[in-house]
Amino acid sequence: MAYDKNNIFAKILRGEIPCKKVYENQHVLAFHDVNPQKKIHVLIIPKGEYTNLDDFTERASEKEIVALIKGISDVAKKIGISEKNSGNGYRSLVNIGENGGQEVPHLHFHIFGGEKIGKMVS
Ligand code: 5GP
Repeated sequence: MAYDKNNIFAKILRGEIPCKKVYENQHVLAFHDVNPQKKIHVLIIPKGEYTNLDDFTERASEKEIVALIKGISDVAKKIGISEKNSGNGYRSLVNIGENGGQEVPHLHFHIFGGEKIGKMVS
């Protein structure tokens, strides 16, 4: 699937629509989900144009891949949900494609915390 430059996260990255930013570096941006499913619900996205995880692992540089994975952990620590700072832990997941339930065609990891997240898959 070709990357859609007008998807909502591309617009957030270009600053065309606002987001509640929690973390940013050269390779990633993290912001609060507009429709939180748990007490804390943050999304982290690569700044590059990648439709999903498979596209990312095929085309991204090792630096970008490391930055995204490390970013999940850095965000969790920054917003106080990591076990490291007694936030009792969190869940991160990524939806891929139609069967995975992906709605926005720009790779994003969800980060849930602040309460027990519950059943893994419903
Ligand atoms: P997906 O189903 O693709 O894995 O998740 C997409 C997520 O993006 C959903 O949790 C949805 O609430 C969130 N989302 C959709 N549009 C916006 C938006 O404009 N701003 C923010 N911050 N989140 C959005």
